[in-house]
Amino acid sequence: MMMKYRVREVAKDLGISNKEVIDLLAQYFPEPKKYMTALESEELNIIFEHFTQKNNQKDFNAYFAQKDLPKEDAKKTEQPIEEQQAKSAKAETPVVKEQKVEKAAEQTDKKEVPAATKQQAPQPQNQNMKNEADKKLQAESKKEVPVKIEKPEAKEVKANVDTRPKKDQKPKHAPREQTQTVRPNAAPITEKVSVTTEQVQKSERRVVDTRQSNVNIDKYNEKYDQLADQKVNKPDHTVTKQKFTNRNSQRRGNQRRGRRETESERLNRIAMERKAKQITIEVPEEITVGEFALRLKVTAAEVIKKLMGLGVFASINDAIDFDTATLVAEEFHAKVEKEVIVTIEDRIIDDSEDDDSNLVTRAPIVVVMGHVDHGKTSILDAIRHANVTSGEAGGITQHIGAYRVKAGDRDITFLDTPGHAAFTTMRARGAQVTDIAVLVVAADDGIMPQTIEAINHAKAAGVSIIVAINKMDKPSANPERIKEQLTQYELIAEDWGGDTPCIPVSAHTKEGIDDLLEMITLIADMKELKANPDRAAKGTVVEARLDKSLGPIATVIVQNGTLRIGDILVAGTTVGRVRVMKNDKGERVQEAGPSVPVELTGLGEVPTGGDVFNVVTDERLARELVEQRQTVQKEEHFNAQTKVTLDNLFDQMKIGEMKELKIIVKADVQGSVEAVRQSLEKLTNEEVRVNIIHGAVGAVNESDVMLANASNAIIVGFNVRPDAVAEDNAKRDGVDMRMYRIIYDCIEEIESAMKGMLAPKFREVALGKAECREVYKISNVGVVIGSYILSGKIPRHAQIRVVRDGIIVADDKVASLRRFKDDVKEVAEGYECGICLEKFSDIKTGDILEAYEMQEYRES
Ligand code: GDP
Repeated sequence: MMMKYRVREVAKDLGISNKEVIDLLAQYFPEPKKYMTALESEELNIIFEHFTQKNNQKDFNAYFAQKDLPKEDAKKTEQPIEEQQAKSAKAETPVVKEQKVEKAAEQTDKKEVPAATKQQAPQPQNQNMKNEADKKLQAESKKEVPVKIEKPEAKEVKANVDTRPKKDQKPKHAPREQTQTVRPNAAPITEKVSVTTEQVQKSERRVVDTRQSNVNIDKYNEKYDQLADQKVNKPDHTVTKQKFTNRNSQRRGNQRRGRRETESERLNRIAMERKAKQITIEVPEEITVGEFALRLKVTAAEVIKKLMGLGVFASINDAIDFDTATLVAEEFHAKVEKEVIVTIEDRIIDDSEDDDSNLVTRAPIVVVMGHVDHGKTSILDAIRHANVTSGEAGGITQHIGAYRVKAGDRDITFLDTPGHAAFTTMRARGAQVTDIAVLVVAADDGIMPQTIEAINHAKAAGVSIIVAINKMDKPSANPERIKEQLTQYELIAEDWGGDTPCIPVSAHTKEGIDDLLEMITLIADMKELKANPDRAAKGTVVEARLDKSLGPIATVIVQNGTLRIGDILVAGTTVGRVRVMKNDKGERVQEAGPSVPVELTGLGEVPTGGDVFNVVTDERLARELVEQRQTVQKEEHFNAQTKVTLDNLFDQMKIGEMKELKIIVKADVQGSVEAVRQSLEKLTNEEVRVNIIHGAVGAVNESDVMLANASNAIIVGFNVRPDAVAEDNAKRDGVDMRMYRIIYDCIEEIESAMKGMLAPKFREVALGKAECREVYKISNVGVVIGSYILSGKIPRHAQIRVVRDGIIVADDKVASLRRFKDDVKEVAEGYECGICLEKFSDIKTGDILEAYEMQEYRES
């Protein structure tokens, strides 16, 4: 900033006449100066140079000797200044006064200046003048001067000369700022002008640090405005008028445009910077717009705008995929790299594909399924026994949940748990352990409900089916009838032109058992079952229990790799080191290869059947992984609603998760099952294929729920009810069960669910269950059902469903409800009562009366 230092002041400070200054300047500059002319730095340089030369001090010692001038001298010298001040006071503008104050303040600044330095000024006889000029110089060159004069031994006479250029380079706002800061503490002008060296030293504490970092630019600008207004007619000094903000452009008039320009400039700058220094961000497979913007260091709005440009309409919380993110990032000149999220699983579990050259043939793993009493256990025994008596070393097999037998020179592993329950449980847990299912059908009995279930379970799991037509020793055995029945379930016997092997066997006579084993090996060969024994083991827990002395014991089947003693094992949510391993013959073994079942100890907790196990290298990480899994398991338990239901069907279809709607149909008669199957399958549209994975007659049972759970299916029932276990399990596993009385209702509901228009207004609320213990036929009254309330309560207004062996035989209303001849409003659990129904009278002892009411509800 330009500080006004007028001819008059220069003359006064130097103790010379205005004319002297004007004359001097006239020698150098063509333009004549007046006594009020503010001088340019160049002009000041000339003046100072001239008078410095003129007053050159030859002997510093002599000069310092002047330091202790008698006080009277000082007073004397002060006097003229006071007079001069008084004289010039009238002529001074307020600004000039301010400068006076400034000078006063500068005097206080002298604390940094050793007393001796003040006498560096050349002319002792002109001390007043010298002091003033010196002060001014020092004030303007601020720090530099003290630094120089701290070294008086240098005795450089030209010290003052040195300071000049610096004085000029110094931004002139500094002294003014200083003035402002100091002014409140500054003493009145008259006092200050008469300040002596001693007084200056005393007032040290009043000095304010005016280093530039503290400069208040706003204040400065304000000040500048005032000054600029005053100087508005002066054509020069444009450079020195420059302010720190682009005030000039603002003053041009259009303030708004100016600001907008600045903003756009800012954005451009940021864009340029980004372009110049291309940032690289990591993006996972999917990322929300908000998170992406954060990583890009831009606002979400900018990202959303760019997305719109790409035709993607996403909000801040929507996720975009990696490719979209890459395109957007390009627009921001950022590079995108795929963020690889390395889970603990990735780190410790080797899931790499095996090279073909490492693979060797492994034994097939076989499960035996079929209807109850058709001979599953007998066949398993026969196989095992045949094997033992065939002279194999090792003796009688132990029950460890699975065993291995030899068929010729080939091994076969059998899961020793007959029936599909264990099989489906395992599958529900994600384990795909079996390769082949042996479907046992008694030749004298034929296809029964559990046979059908078994077929559907096996199909759902995608395993090969071999039919063992058992009890061939029986005279009533009719294998052809079985084969014929099988065709209804798309299982065509080989000798009927299909591809389902049907082997007639007898568990009793052992007839056909070898054929069965041979067929198993044949199918296994076709399936080319292979594994790599030279890697860390992976497999499935078949069974597990807690032994009082040995701790958790688990039977596992190794599916790939080789399991060894001492291996660190993670099984589901448990971890441990393999301590002891025993094979199916009870022998201790050191290792178990692919398809080999072993019983092992060493796990921390009892795992669950169906848990997948992995051998890992880092025990600490394994424990961490198990903890994570436990947390996830807990969370899943709380929000187990990932299963398909009619309510979420449309949503799942929309996000492309549902390509197939699997349904299990249960009805009171076979005709209904077929009718429903056909009608539902017709609902198949472009988005979703309706697949009836199982249909059967009878109540919805545990097995249906298990199948639904494992296959992510829904269950629909017609005139049937779920049994208690099925109901509990369905609730626990989140399986959607829908019971209907009319097929049309079902079709309509599923159809609207597929269209996303499912809006059931009413739902059934179960109130209680009663059992018919006695039936009284009373004339004039009708049939009174002597009932015992099993659960809940039966209210007077309730609707009653009569269920016999899982089949609904009537749907009626309570006509009267009595306890010991008294009409009552409701009867609670554990009490007996007499119930009359409005219409239904064909009640039988053992029938279950289900009380319910229909409740209207709104979808949340
Ligand atoms: P699971 O319920 O399917 O395990 O059937 P079981 O193996 O327990 O057999 C049920 C009944 O059928 C038992 O009484 C067996 O003795 C009988 N059984 C099993 N296989 C045969 C067979 O091949 N021939 C005859 N005659 N009876 C058999």
